[in-house]
Amino acid sequence: MTEVARTGECPECGALISLKDPVIREITTCDECGVTLEVISIEPLLFEIAELEGEDWGE
Ligand SMILES: [Zn+2]
Repeated sequence: MTEVARTGECPECGALISLKDPVIREITTCDECGVTLEVISIEPLLFEIAELEGEDWGE
């Protein structure tokens, strides 16, 4: 069994973030700048800054 940790870059500060078994739309937080990030791509691992201020996005 091999557990693959993927590494992506924070779009805000450029810090490297490692995730084990990331899933699309998973929410994580950058340890470096504290921004909330959403996984938008697995291969390669890409993040987008999640806007959580408004909650009128629906489901
Ligand atoms: Zn960051």
